[in-house]
Amino acid sequence: MSDNHYDVIIIGTGAGGGTLAYHLAPSGKRILILERGDYVPREKANWDPQVVNVDAHYNAKESWLDKDGKELHPHTNYYVGGNTKFYGAALFRLRKEDFGELRHHGGISPAWPISYEDLEPYYTQAENLYQVHGNRGEDPTEPPANAPYPWPAVSHEPRIQQLSDDFARSGLKPFHVPVGVMLDEKNPHKSRCIRCNTCDGFACLVGAKSDAQVVCIDEAIKHSNVTLLTNSLVKRLDTDVSGREVKSVVVERNGAVESYSADVVVVSCGAINSAALLLRSANDKHPRGLANSSDVVGRHYMGHTNSVMMAISKCPNPTIFQKTLGVNDFYFCSKDFEYPMGHISFVGKLDAITLKAGAPAIAPNFTLELMAKHSLDFWLTSEDLPDPSNRVTIGRDGKIVLTYTPNNLEAHERLKGKLKQAMRQTNCTMHGHECHQGLFGRNLYVGQRIPLAGVAHQNGTIRFGHDPKTSVLDPNCKAHDVDNLYVVDGSFFPSSAAVNPALTIMANALRVGDHLMKRLGVSGKDYEQNLRQDRELAVSR
Ligand SMILES: Cc1cc2nc3c(=O)[nH]c(=O)nc-3n(C[C@H](O)[C@H](O)[C@H](O)COP(=O)(O)OP(=O)(O)OC[C@H]3O[C@@H](n4cnc5c(N)ncnc54)[C@H](O)[C@@H]3O)c2cc1C
Ligand code: SF4
Repeated sequence: MSDNHYDVIIIGTGAGGGTLAYHLAPSGKRILILERGDYVPREKANWDPQVVNVDAHYNAKESWLDKDGKELHPHTNYYVGGNTKFYGAALFRLRKEDFGELRHHGGISPAWPISYEDLEPYYTQAENLYQVHGNRGEDPTEPPANAPYPWPAVSHEPRIQQLSDDFARSGLKPFHVPVGVMLDEKNPHKSRCIRCNTCDGFACLVGAKSDAQVVCIDEAIKHSNVTLLTNSLVKRLDTDVSGREVKSVVVERNGAVESYSADVVVVSCGAINSAALLLRSANDKHPRGLANSSDVVGRHYMGHTNSVMMAISKCPNPTIFQKTLGVNDFYFCSKDFEYPMGHISFVGKLDAITLKAGAPAIAPNFTLELMAKHSLDFWLTSEDLPDPSNRVTIGRDGKIVLTYTPNNLEAHERLKGKLKQAMRQTNCTMHGHECHQGLFGRNLYVGQRIPLAGVAHQNGTIRFGHDPKTSVLDPNCKAHDVDNLYVVDGSFFPSSAAVNPALTIMANALRVGDHLMKRLGVSGKDYEQNLRQDRELAVSR
């Protein structure tokens, strides 16, 4: 067997690929990880809002096209760890009901081929691995879980606690958002996380965010059977003559073209790039793109309908780590709207520099500086529905084309209305009733839907399902059409639900990892023994 042959090749090191690599590493199998990017350089600029949010220094340097042929600069990141290097680490389980069919105002959200119960043990594993901090039992829509969160929730700072109390008084059930940061509030002097204001959207300079590089890839490559090649862009996948097996993974590395092979090839490039890779790998046996007999590859692109809404009040908001509060009371319905609306939480605290990048309308009597000091910066997510016309294709010049028409928008408008209503009912305890009058009389919301280039929550382009006519992957995330091809990034979602996607991608990668270990004949005994040896080695280091 050639040196370039492996048991498993994993393409991409984000939430899906990174987690799978971590899980398979103790199997002893020869694993090659291919990542187009490099490590995020550790530099002070990691935490500089001008460099990160205005100059978009760490964003991918390529451009894609929208349906009208207009260039768009995707807000996505090509690094070891993928987009988890920059994510806000809000790590939610989907709701149990999200796995079934749900009727929305804009249409049907289809059922998944697996149930919540199938994924539950892997959610628990993923929460442990990514050190999720949360409190079970607070979120009224939370699905049943077999274990508590491994860490208590990150506490609210006073302004957010005040808002939480206000919301609770008005009958809502606010909860602590589950987040993957390595914060130890009981032992601050030992805590790796320093609770700073540059977390959501920024890479963590001190390696304290539970991202796929720090948590998974750094650990996986400690195993001598695992090789990581960075700056390795996978250009195409070639099959054998039957078309049933990927025979060659063609990679551009340091200006040269190289070729690798494996018994199992796992694609995990993110939902848009994975679809693009399969489409670019068309051949005689797969004329519409690899594994695309269904013509489904690239279709049903979803990315959520998201808005950032700034609630400006007279009271300042000196919060540093703002992403601690969530409201799911309107996730499924309300008394006056029988359809799901979505999820309300927060983005990281906005500052004046960041506001300049996507300048909102200025609130009367407020400068950007003042707005940043006084805003509560909400993040609203509603489900977008899988529409086959919303799709990734490859343009004539080889560029990615992203065609997307938003849908289910009434749900999002209703959700905004619910937040406005909830904010009007809040009561400022700091300044008494008078302040309350002025404060809420002058509240202003600057709501703007996140534009198409905001592809942070991309999913759905290589959906899994039972029927090869309507899905690309089977329930184990193996391609129906190809015997050794798997996909474990956000592509597999048949519906987008309305909570952040990363924990579901991680949990599913662990589930597929178990399936692959069976397929590769890894015995539980060997795996456990390797794990024990790793732990002993780690202790002796
Ligand atoms: C600013 C921001 C904030 C976010 N906040 C949250 C949050 O709070 N909670 C949450 O759940 N989600 C959040 N997300 C979304 C979350 O990061 C993604 O859902 C998740 O990272 C997707 O995982 P993935 O494995 O599908 O893809 P990615 O993490 O994008 O990984 C794909 C990897 O593949 C590599 N790659 C791509 N093409 C190729 C190729 N051809 N060859 C080799 N390598 C390739 C990329 O470089 C990348 O490393 C956020 C995203 C962003 C950008
Ligand atoms: S130190 Fe903590 S809050 Fe700051 S970026 Fe790192 S994980 Fe996030």
